[in-house]
Amino acid sequence: MNSEDFQPNEQLLLRAVELLTSPENFTSSEPLPAKLPEVGIGSMNALSAMFDDVLGKSRDLGAPGFFAHMDPPTPAITWAMHLWTASRNQNLLHPDTAPRARELEKLAVDWIAPWFGMSGGHMTPGSTVANLTAIWAARESGCRVVVSGTGAHLSIRKSAHLLGMEHRIIDDWSNTGDLMNAVAVITAGTTSTGEIEPLDAASDARWRHIDAAWSGPLRLSERHRHLLDGIERADSVAISAHKWLFQPKESAFILFADHETAHKSISIEGAYLAVPNVGVLGSHGTIAAPLIAMLLAFGREGIAGMIDKSMSLADELAALVMAHADLELRSAPNCGVLCWRHKSVSADDIKRNLPDDVMVSSTTINGEPWLRSVSANPNANPAKVVAGVLQAAEKAQQQ
Ligand SMILES: *Cc1c(COP(=O)(O)O)cnc(C)c1O
Repeated sequence: MNSEDFQPNEQLLLRAVELLTSPENFTSSEPLPAKLPEVGIGSMNALSAMFDDVLGKSRDLGAPGFFAHMDPPTPAITWAMHLWTASRNQNLLHPDTAPRARELEKLAVDWIAPWFGMSGGHMTPGSTVANLTAIWAARESGCRVVVSGTGAHLSIRKSAHLLGMEHRIIDDWSNTGDLMNAVAVITAGTTSTGEIEPLDAASDARWRHIDAAWSGPLRLSERHRHLLDGIERADSVAISAHKWLFQPKESAFILFADHETAHKSISIEGAYLAVPNVGVLGSHGTIAAPLIAMLLAFGREGIAGMIDKSMSLADELAALVMAHADLELRSAPNCGVLCWRHKSVSADDIKRNLPDDVMVSSTTINGEPWLRSVSANPNANPAKVVAGVLQAAEKAQQQ
């Protein structure tokens, strides 16, 4: 390795783009060695060696048969930003190393926060960390107990555990008991079924956090933002940008109604730091750049259009399921999350027999397994997904 290897190598980068855009023209070399080498093979060879594992063997989340998890395909403009931000490697922890990157994150936060009635916040690598950050701030404000609904994400239990707080599950938001010392975590769009818990619940809680990891971006859509009415009265909101904002991982927001007070309560100073370190992260990259670039490219309108389209695809899938005698729909889609099943073949057997180009996920509701389809892929073809599931059922029944 020498100093030239830190310079932009045009030949290498163009080759990387060529492999990305025309993977079919490349036959991959040997599999990666199980033991990583003492002596290197050079950057160009390393690129070829990585092709199969990084590009070849990845699932295409934007393929028409993929109607499964909360992971979206990402627009090409965001890939370009990841190339650039990796090349510059700014660290938002140190204003010296990141004179503009810190302002880019503020620009992104200032754009998104008002949609949720929040004053500001910061970016995190996911809503797991966003939820942890919110519950930490809540604890600093005097909360001792975390309460959440039955559908809360596992990161809530994890956060309570890490922060040494008691965690209570609330079966019924209209009957919570005393919440004077509690942070109430209300889920807007549960991970399993997409259900929106009552956003005005727990009005007497010391702190109200709304976990909108999946559904948050609905706020950008004229047609769907009413689904999250009331979110603007929360003390904090978590949103994953790497879910319904089509961002590459890892990208999310923690937003606060009063971010100055909240940030102060979760800041720690260090002798080597010019500014206090806010929140859970230490070193932190320019994760706002891809989001800002996408916004510049398509505007709020363009992104909302993609979210609306995803919502319509969930309706289309629901209609196809309802129209087929062998299929059963659990309920109308919630926030683009659909639970459905085959009447005589189990979700596990379906998943085992799906054709390679079709993917659905699964979940257990009241002890019963269901197929689950999340509309994170605006290029999904619901008819192809239904056909794939019926084909899998037939195959399973013949076994
Ligand atoms: C996905 C999800 C999370 C966790 O978010 P990550 O970005 O995966 O860390 C938290 N809450 C809900 C409701 C989710 O759907």
